[in-house]
Amino acid sequence: RDQSGPLLRVDDVGKSFGGLRAVDQVSFEVTRGQIVGIIGPNGSGKTTLLNVLSGALVPSSGKVRLGGTMIGGLKPHLIARLGIARTFQLVRVMADLTVAENVAAAALFRGAATSGGETTGELLDLVGLGKMQDTPAGDLTYIDQKRLELARALALSPQLVLLDEWLAGLNPSELETGIALIAKLRDRGVTIIMVEHVMDAIRALCGHCIVMNAGSVIARGAPDAVLSDPTVITAYLGE
Ligand code: ADP
Repeated sequence: RDQSGPLLRVDDVGKSFGGLRAVDQVSFEVTRGQIVGIIGPNGSGKTTLLNVLSGALVPSSGKVRLGGTMIGGLKPHLIARLGIARTFQLVRVMADLTVAENVAAAALFRGAATSGGETTGELLDLVGLGKMQDTPAGDLTYIDQKRLELARALALSPQLVLLDEWLAGLNPSELETGIALIAKLRDRGVTIIMVEHVMDAIRALCGHCIVMNAGSVIARGAPDAVLSDPTVITAYLGE
């Protein structure tokens, strides 16, 4: 693994659906250990961008590099093996399997029973599911399913984790728990890109954020500065 330079480099990436430029000439970098937030009104291209990064969509133009490796257009399983893990907006745990089996299945995919020296039990302790290893995933509460999704992503020993509105649907007290959990990952050096509508979470967690509108990046920088930028406020008002 190439440890010099940014972990992720996105250069002039575009994705069109027919005549619609859902993502238009987007460029940014992610440094190891950073949490980068991607925000913007509905339909601005955030999920499309995440789908390009994870390999679910092939970019129409531009380059994506992870370390020194070109990953743009590679199949999702290859990108996952190269070190990008993601969670989905709709939770996708395997309901009939236990919590521990769900994590083990994800780890198997990467060809390892452990994740960077962490056992399934340690990963579940980390996300707060240590006492629920034998519970069928389908019996978990919503926030616990979210915790499990995170553990499954971490089981791949990822270099980069993509969170697609991981905090969506949580009530205020769960939100606090969820933010604290992401902060814990940050303190352990996990590199994260989060698409998120919860601005309190963006402020609390992200050193840097990118604002998208109509497929383009319209602002970038520290959350406080970006969220008080008139261009950004106008973009949200147009929603
Ligand atoms: P966001 O995540 O910011 O809400 P999306 O990336 O989901 O935005 O969507 C960006 C634009 O691309 C929207 O106009 C949406 O309708 C369009 N779009 C997304 N996915 C597809 C698709 N598979 N086919 C056609 N248009 C799409």
